[in-house]
Amino acid sequence: MSDTLVVDRIQASLIRLKLPRISEILEGVMHAAQEKGKSYLSFLDELLEEEIACREQRRVETSLKISGLPFAKGIEEFDFTFQPKLDRQKVMSLFDLTFIRQKGNVIFLGPPGVGKTHLAVALALKACQAGMSIYFTTMEDLIEKLKKDHGAERKGRGRGYNKSALVIVDEVGYTPINREECNLFFRFIANRYEKASTIITSNKAFSDWTELFHDPVIVTAFLDRLLHHSVVINIKGNSYRLRGKIGKEGVELSQP
Ligand code: ADP
Ligand code: MG
Repeated sequence: MSDTLVVDRIQASLIRLKLPRISEILEGVMHAAQEKGKSYLSFLDELLEEEIACREQRRVETSLKISGLPFAKGIEEFDFTFQPKLDRQKVMSLFDLTFIRQKGNVIFLGPPGVGKTHLAVALALKACQAGMSIYFTTMEDLIEKLKKDHGAERKGRGRGYNKSALVIVDEVGYTPINREECNLFFRFIANRYEKASTIITSNKAFSDWTELFHDPVIVTAFLDRLLHHSVVINIKGNSYRLRGKIGKEGVELSQP
């Protein structure tokens, strides 16, 4: 059988086996291997490595698309020199993702614009690249989803906000919630406790959470679960959004 016929047959097999990347690069890699006198083993190795790399990239792209992340900024885009009071070592140590493997939580506190969402997103990106499932939501959206699923038969089982290894609840405390919503949120945290990780961002100090969640007994029980196995990062600094404007245009920034 001629080489062309063999290549055609291999191409047909690659399509049937669903190996599109190998199909795409087969001839190029084959000619390069012939020219360089590569062994059969390294030829096959190169093809398989390429297929795996391509699949991995597609998996990351798909999970990022459905994760709900508001943007895709990594930690390398975070300028620590802008937040000199932020403990860089403590933040960077989160990026080994041990807290997710140990089902721990991270809480970012601080005024608007200090990078809470950015850091949470950067952790989610890293987790996604490491093959972990991620889900991003604001507190407001989460409560809407919890309310909708509460009445449903399956009560939101199988939903991204329940089953992901890492869920980010952004902007806790930005909008007031009623008692019923508060109970739903509390149950959500209780369900994830020691089972999966949650990152929370909030512009409210813990001392303000009693008012936020109405009932001091509920808040105590809530914080008890949330803070057990958790890292709290309190960012005290200026808004990155207002950088360059401080002292100009009459913009005054108050420190919390
Ligand atoms: P927060 O959630 O605390 O209100 P964000 O994380 O949304 O703040 O940050 C606001 C904007 O500023 C985002 O575009 C973010 O990427 C950027 N940003 C904030 N802090 C930094 C920083 N230290 N270095 C680089 N970009 C930053
Ligand atoms: Mg934010």
